[in-house]
Amino acid sequence: MNSEPFLPFALPDIGEAEIAEVVDTLRSGWVTTGPKARRFEEDFAAFLGDPGLHALAVNSATAGLHLALEALGIGPGDEVITTTHTFTATAEVVRYLGADVVLVDIDPATLCIDVAAVERAITPRTKAVIPVHYAGLAADMTALLALAQRRGLKVVEDAAHAMPTTHAGRLVGTLDSDATVFSFYANKTITTGEGGMVVTRDEALAKRIKVMRLHGISRDAFDRFTAKVPSWYYEIVAPGFKYNLTDIAAALGLHQLKRAREFQAKRERIANWYGQTLAGLPLVLPPGPAAGDVHSWHLYVVRLADDAGVARDALIERLFAAGIGCSVHYTPLHLQPYWRERYALRRAQFPHSQHAYERLVSLPMYSRMVESDVQRVARAAREALGH
Ligand SMILES: *Cc1c(COP(=O)(O)O)cnc(C)c1O
Repeated sequence: MNSEPFLPFALPDIGEAEIAEVVDTLRSGWVTTGPKARRFEEDFAAFLGDPGLHALAVNSATAGLHLALEALGIGPGDEVITTTHTFTATAEVVRYLGADVVLVDIDPATLCIDVAAVERAITPRTKAVIPVHYAGLAADMTALLALAQRRGLKVVEDAAHAMPTTHAGRLVGTLDSDATVFSFYANKTITTGEGGMVVTRDEALAKRIKVMRLHGISRDAFDRFTAKVPSWYYEIVAPGFKYNLTDIAAALGLHQLKRAREFQAKRERIANWYGQTLAGLPLVLPPGPAAGDVHSWHLYVVRLADDAGVARDALIERLFAAGIGCSVHYTPLHLQPYWRERYALRRAQFPHSQHAYERLVSLPMYSRMVESDVQRVARAAREALGH
């Protein structure tokens, strides 16, 4: 019997400043989208440090991905390529718009989308690609953006794991894609409970997203006739969505954002402890970032070596029995009933994702973990693997 308290797989890191800001919002009388959501957008753009960027707060990354693709004009008859090794949100938004999802395999070293597989999947109907910075390691954006430019494809980055992550020295969010979408879901590297941010340099795209995130409401049309828009006046220019971020959520985000670099440093230290304590076990440890680059370490995903002699599910069961929470990121989309049946997918089409899925475990990873927690996980893993 294990007497230590349960060590969760993930935990948010909410401080007193976040709590005070939420209380201030509640007392202010302005609880939905207002001054704090606006300030969160400004601070987020400032964090990315690129004056040309528009940052648009939304109530989830899923909403942000949907809005970005809608604004890019994705619709019926179009194809959008993404990785099978992701959460369903990455792909489902394509179906919201009546377009088709084309899933491709991953690079077995990074578990990020395989750019060569993207190239092979392009058809005359392909309009866009959605890379995912899996676990917080940047996808090969240099190759992907070059391919997209060559073939005239739009790129929307699913950066749900990538806050903050860099590629070739530049923060994800400032690369040359059409839009980048961050998530502030409860278990992400910074959280607003539920929330997300779309960033883009494209003025027209930003404008469309702004209109569509709140019912298709626009006040711009009035400007053509008179300089002064009455406060009550608006026009509905499209059947938009209800995707705005509340000030209550933004209040959390304002302070989480200030701590983003502190959180990243803590996660990186935890990853380094894992690297040291797990060395020598029959595990494939996750790749670090390229020299000089930043990995957000949203997830710490290990894979059982082919000769480990222990099945993935047994490993997870043994860790749970030792009071340690784990997860699996992800059951690939090609194995999920909806995607498998909709596109008649077979596992042989995705050998690298399939191979990784059968062997991978996400170990506990969150900023408040201490070195003894990591040692405890490593000890339990060593026992579970019979070492
Ligand atoms: C969490 C996550 C999403 C969805 O984010 P929400 O803010 O919950 O909508 C999308 N893609 C990936 C890869 C994620 O991990």
